[in-house]
Amino acid sequence: MTVSPAAVRAALTDAVPDVYWMDRPALRPVARPALTGSGLRTDLVVVGGGFTGLWAAVQAKEDDPSRDVVLLEAGRFGIAASGRNGGFVSPSLTHGLAQGVACWPDEIGRLERLGAENMAAFIATLERHGVDADLHVPGELTTALTEHQVTTVRELHDLHREHGVPVALLDAEATRALVDSPRYLAGMLDPTVGLVDPARLVWGLADVAERLGVRLHEDTAVTGLDVDGSGVRVSTEWGAVTGRRVVLGTGAFPGPLRRLRYWTVPVYDHVLMSEPLSATQLAEVGWEGREGITDAGNQFHYYRRTLDDRVLFGGYDASYHFPGRIDPRYEQSPSHDLLARHFLEIFPQLEGIRFTHRWAGVIDTTTRFTPVFGTALGGRVSYAVGYTGLGVASTRFGARVALDLVDGRDTEATRLSMVRRKPLPFPPEPVRGAGIRLTRAALAAEDRTGRRGPWLRALDRLGVGFDS
Ligand SMILES: Cc1cc2nc3c(=O)[nH]c(=O)nc-3n(C[C@H](O)[C@H](O)[C@H](O)COP(=O)(O)OP(=O)(O)OC[C@H]3O[C@@H](n4cnc5c(N)ncnc54)[C@H](O)[C@@H]3O)c2cc1C
Repeated sequence: MTVSPAAVRAALTDAVPDVYWMDRPALRPVARPALTGSGLRTDLVVVGGGFTGLWAAVQAKEDDPSRDVVLLEAGRFGIAASGRNGGFVSPSLTHGLAQGVACWPDEIGRLERLGAENMAAFIATLERHGVDADLHVPGELTTALTEHQVTTVRELHDLHREHGVPVALLDAEATRALVDSPRYLAGMLDPTVGLVDPARLVWGLADVAERLGVRLHEDTAVTGLDVDGSGVRVSTEWGAVTGRRVVLGTGAFPGPLRRLRYWTVPVYDHVLMSEPLSATQLAEVGWEGREGITDAGNQFHYYRRTLDDRVLFGGYDASYHFPGRIDPRYEQSPSHDLLARHFLEIFPQLEGIRFTHRWAGVIDTTTRFTPVFGTALGGRVSYAVGYTGLGVASTRFGARVALDLVDGRDTEATRLSMVRRKPLPFPPEPVRGAGIRLTRAALAAEDRTGRRGPWLRALDRLGVGFDS
């Protein structure tokens, strides 16, 4: 069906250029003070106040309440991906089962089990500390919007079943009985995936960390790391702190460790949030199970119903800005018009809907879509960055691994190939930008035709790719 430009314009007329999740002043906590002075000493410095940093601080304190922990965030907690995402909580540690099977066929059983254990511990921690982040587990519906996506959905179903995931395969009618779109040709329901309010998760984890005794500092950018005796001097804009150990959870940002720039590139992912749907609009779509929804293309949408019946609709057009620049001006783009058009194609019965917010956030992409882990400065510093768009739950695992690495613990997780072997680095510019452009065009061609071209097949053989 064709959506008129006027309908797209009308849907976006009231949309403010802001992140819906963070734009709730009544819920937003007051800022923690910036770090000043330079005489502070501590056992552990955590850099980054997104999920990775917050989970590292919480787990460090839970492991050993006597350990002194300082957490430094350049902006406000959740200012980056952790406060801007779709809130899908997937147990996968490997950016989905298919990617895990492709990269680590011998370890996939262990990776899946560790992912399920991580998800259970994620939920248990929120319950134990009374974090109310709207966590619920309605499952994820992967839909087919084209005939070749029907094949993909069937293959995904069989793969999940082979690995013991209790997914259900749905034909068009059964899919539409859950959520009614004339575009749906088939679906796979995975009951293990949850949804969360990401900003309330960030704010809740920051409260937990503080209650456990972590010293929290916002508006404190780390500018340098230098060996200082047996520890590390962590320089900031206004001061410094010396830590025996340092964990970096700096996401897509260049951060104080240069080498991370070779393994991750920042990719912008765009999102719309609608006004709450009326009872009449809800009756038009069904969606009573509140499933998280995605589609089976390379360039995929993800969408969900919030508990107050708004619809978040994001994804599809992930964009890279030469030479890896991160800039707030990229947060508003024609990608939002494209998203609004796609939304109305999927749900023509909702024409007249208004989006209230439009935003984008940077995803830290690696060539194999899973984080890069490692240590630096003689083992005093560790890092976990590069979750490539699937980090809401796996950042807890990433933080666990980073803590184990910096403390020199040999665990089942630190022995994983995914942890020990780094992904292939991205080439330097200008080859990097050209390669990403070529790959995006090849992925879009496959989405149109259902055929994987020679460029993508060559990348498959090298075990590298581009995703969000
Ligand atoms: C639009 C969008 C939608 C997404 N949707 C989903 C989803 O539905 N499900 C899912 O699982 N994942 C999703 N993701 C991915 C997920 O949000 C991320 O994987 C996860 O939030 C990464 O957390 P992080 O803490 O590692 O990084 P970030 O959240 O990026 O946090 C890093 C923090 O480090 C700080 N920092 C950086 N440099 C410094 C410095 N020098 N000094 C001090 N602080 C510094 C930054 O300010 C930032 O706050 C999405 C991401 C985006 C952008």
